[in-house]
Amino acid sequence: MSHDPHCIFCKIIAGQIPSRKVYEDDDVYAFHDINPWAPVHFLIVPRLHIPSMAQLLPEHARLMGKIMLLAPRLAIEQGCQPYPDGGFRMVCNTGIQGGQEVHHLHLHVMGGPRPWLKG
Ligand code: AMP
Ligand code: ZN
Repeated sequence: MSHDPHCIFCKIIAGQIPSRKVYEDDDVYAFHDINPWAPVHFLIVPRLHIPSMAQLLPEHARLMGKIMLLAPRLAIEQGCQPYPDGGFRMVCNTGIQGGQEVHHLHLHVMGGPRPWLKG
């Protein structure tokens, strides 16, 4: 299934639910987390509805590589300070015990001056 009509992130990608866009291209959409833990906190999601890391297939390697490469670039654009004194944290919660609440694969990117709400 490339799109799940009940999925909140599919609805955000389709523009049916408003979001604060950080970046978009043909494969990926990035937007600010509605409930940020850190001064910078955005999510990078594939347009394709993949429920979690647990469903990744070899054919998704290029897409996931793209997301990993985007993260440091967007982090700087969003105001994270450069490595090594600045930097950012990437989190990809997977499954219920992994703390995943929205079952559309997403990478959290968090950064900015501490303290943060969590971590
Ligand atoms: P996770 O626990 O990894 O599934 O995280 C889901 C994240 O999505 C949480 O940090 C939420 O704050 C965020 N979130 C949920 N709904 C929205 C929304 N409508 N717009 C932006 N972020 C959202
Ligand atoms: Zn989805």
